[in-house]
Amino acid sequence: MTQSAATTDELLLRLRRFKSDYFPRHQQRFQDLVSQGQHPKTLFIGCSDSRLVPYLLTGTGPGELFIVRNVGAFIPPYGGSHGLHGTTAAIEYAVLSLKVERIVVCGHSQCGGIRAAYEGVPDEAVALRAWLRLVQEALLPVQPSPEALRRTEQRSVVLQLERLLDYPMVRRAVEAGTLTLHGWHYVIEEGEIHIFDAQKGDFVPASLASNCGTGPYQPYVEHDGQVISN
Ligand SMILES: [Zn+2]
Repeated sequence: MTQSAATTDELLLRLRRFKSDYFPRHQQRFQDLVSQGQHPKTLFIGCSDSRLVPYLLTGTGPGELFIVRNVGAFIPPYGGSHGLHGTTAAIEYAVLSLKVERIVVCGHSQCGGIRAAYEGVPDEAVALRAWLRLVQEALLPVQPSPEALRRTEQRSVVLQLERLLDYPMVRRAVEAGTLTLHGWHYVIEEGEIHIFDAQKGDFVPASLASNCGTGPYQPYVEHDGQVISN
């Protein structure tokens, strides 16, 4: 068997294994989710990076997370475009129809999207180049050192949360106390989520944090006193 045939077969084998091994053990749960519909309490907006695994990090399973993923975990400005915008549509659906109680925005260490915002993308990647403008405000006027990249990843999470609050249905629900926003930075190499704490204006490791999110929102103040958004 050639290497490529073996690889193709491996994925097919995993599909069959889902049906034969996983599904029978969880069949009731799937049937309940079909008969009663989905009622996820959390909208999870995460980067597409393959190393970020929302179900693994949060210990959740089918029916618990409504997930949107895109390069960088970015939020488009509300009303900036009425075009075919998957992320915006998912936010509207999650808040207005599913009435989720939490929105998580989850960036991560080693983010290729953040790095590309500094280093550029191939000429042909016109949509990607336009998309990366959504993190422009969080970039630092420095060379992208590991420290600068990590700070930018965190600044981006805060910036995206700020944009979320420009969505009228999000702001309304947050102000009504029925929705909370959660800014997370997953540090892959530490196995830890760092949570944005609006009171402290900083990220706190989950192991030390008293909660995993924030309510209404304070400006994010950098260590040097710079406010990136308000
Ligand atoms: Zn990423």
